[in-house]
Amino acid sequence: MTAAPRIDLHTHSTASDGTLSPAELVRAAADAGLDVVAVTDHDTTAGWDAAVRALPPGLTLIRGAELSCRWYGVEPAIPLHLLAYLFDPTEPELVAELARVRLAREVRGERIVALLRADGIDVSWPEILAGAAGGTVGRPHIAQALIRAGLVTTTTEAFGPEWLGARYRLPKEDIDVFRAVALVRAAGGVPVFAHPRASRRGRIVPDELIVELAAAGLAGLEADHEDHSLAERAHVRGLAAELGLLVTGSSDFHGTHKTVRLGAYTTDPGAYERIVAAASGVTPVASG
Ligand code: AMP
Ligand code: ZN
Ligand code: FE
Ligand code: FE
Repeated sequence: MTAAPRIDLHTHSTASDGTLSPAELVRAAADAGLDVVAVTDHDTTAGWDAAVRALPPGLTLIRGAELSCRWYGVEPAIPLHLLAYLFDPTEPELVAELARVRLAREVRGERIVALLRADGIDVSWPEILAGAAGGTVGRPHIAQALIRAGLVTTTTEAFGPEWLGARYRLPKEDIDVFRAVALVRAAGGVPVFAHPRASRRGRIVPDELIVELAAAGLAGLEADHEDHSLAERAHVRGLAAELGLLVTGSSDFHGTHKTVRLGAYTTDPGAYERIVAAASGVTPVASG
């Protein structure tokens, strides 16, 4: 009997706020015994080609991204993340939205740095940009600057209320989540709501929104994720079953910016096959 394939559909590289390059990431995925890995950097497809070129034998690559979205149905609007798989990376409207959000992240990052500096905290925007090394800038890069400055010792601490979690937290200009779902579908991609119940990161959206998103083209929900309790995972599975959505599980690996390991959570082959069958933008890539 062959073992079930191990499928991890949510990871980050240096194209955003992970610490492994796309090439290192796919090699680490193979070393971790994965059969399928998705590269899902924040608001960018910049890591795709390097991941394809470095793909080790036996590993299948799913090209994806994690889109910074917002639900404007309440005031203040609630940020959320949408995983998008196998979409056409040249679809003009989606390309334009991703570029706009990446720029908005820089605007927000620079404003956070200005707030920190106004309080006498010695971090600099050029230093943070250098740390991001051309990848999508995120708060983990600012967290690294706080660690280097000796103000906190871990990323988790940097995301606490005294720092990036509340006191120095600023919103960014995200994509309206309904528009994001429509754009991903129009680009032949498959949208999956990332960690929908991760309440310890901030406010979460009500199930009623997920019902509406399912009607608008959402394909699935990420249930198995380290930021979900067992009860939250069960709730997400139940909701997905009610709405006919597929369910994923994934590590949301960020290298040393987080403690979770590649393959710590995985997706059932049936859900993976549904994603591949629903996609028409780009194909999974298998080497050799
Ligand atoms: P940003 O995309 O700039 O808003 O930053 C969010 C990123 O920071 C997410 O992708 C997470 O990986 C990471 N993050 C959010 N909350 C935490 C936390 N409490 N501890 C560590 N990393 C976090
Ligand atoms: Zn991240
Ligand atoms: Fe996320
Ligand atoms: Fe993520």
